[in-house]
Amino acid sequence: AKAAGRNNFQFFVAEMNQRANERLQLESALRRALGGNQLSLHYQAQIDTASGQVVGCEALLRWHHPQRGMVAPDTFIPVAEDSGMIVPIGDWVLREACRQQAEWRNQGLGGLTLAINISAIQFQRESFPETVQSILAETGADPTAIELEITESALMQPGPVLSARLQKLVDLGLTLALDDFGTGYSCLAYLKRLPLSRIKIDRSFVTDLPGNTEDAAVVSAALSLAHDLGMEVVAEGVETAAQRAFLTERKCTLMQGYLFSRPLDAASFTSWVRGANK
Ligand code: C2E
Ligand code: CA
Ligand code: CA
Ligand code: CA
Repeated sequence: AKAAGRNNFQFFVAEMNQRANERLQLESALRRALGGNQLSLHYQAQIDTASGQVVGCEALLRWHHPQRGMVAPDTFIPVAEDSGMIVPIGDWVLREACRQQAEWRNQGLGGLTLAINISAIQFQRESFPETVQSILAETGADPTAIELEITESALMQPGPVLSARLQKLVDLGLTLALDDFGTGYSCLAYLKRLPLSRIKIDRSFVTDLPGNTEDAAVVSAALSLAHDLGMEVVAEGVETAAQRAFLTERKCTLMQGYLFSRPLDAASFTSWVRGANK
């Protein structure tokens, strides 16, 4: 029994080492990805279903690993956040998205809102507003066409520092959206005091609509409160006509999801949007 216990322990240590190793490997691979052209942005359409027009898109990060193939952001963003790599990666995303916006602007597609995901760690850096400002200047992007998607976790410490930071971004001309609404704990009444123009209802609340009565109640309540507070709402992860109908009935017309389009690479998105907005 003693020997077996020891073996188990050794196995446990070996497994822990292996995990730590895998993480380290992933970290250094990420570092190479950033320097080696392995990152790209895909764009997913946001539709105003009332007019049928594509009104914007969300930039979603993609990693083309030379051996592992396409690595999903849900697997590498947490590692990037723990290691601090999210800061240079996030800067890269901002710069690339702003460069793309400037290009669309030159091609007559400047009216599309381009939403960019911002990690809490990236947002909480003191230099964040200055970084955004210099990337805007460098790329020539139109700030009024850029929206920053900020998660609730970034807004957890209310106070003058947070308000000033958000206001700086608004003063640059950007709009702010609260991402993954419903997955955190903040209440909308508090959020209303922050300069947020939009909330995004998380896909996890949309998936089981309209059948799941709890999700239906949460989404209905969030929609009516958001609308009463004068905020726009984007529902994400809309896959079915029944989900769309449920949302439309509750006056939510801005939608994003596979029902309309999957995320596409820049060239495919650009030509798709030209066709869609004819
Ligand atoms: P998110 O911000 O909630 O983004 C929406 C996710 O839902 C995307 O996954 C998108 O591809 C997916 N999605 C959209 N419509 C549908 C649908 O109808 N059905 C299903 N099943 N999925 C749909 P993706 O691209 O894998 O990104 C996952 C998460 O990674 C994002 O969740 C976001 O939190 C994070 N992320 C992606 N890009 C960036 C980035 O540039 N910076 C940061 N900090 N995070 C990012
Ligand atoms: Ca998002
Ligand atoms: Ca998210
Ligand atoms: Ca989400």
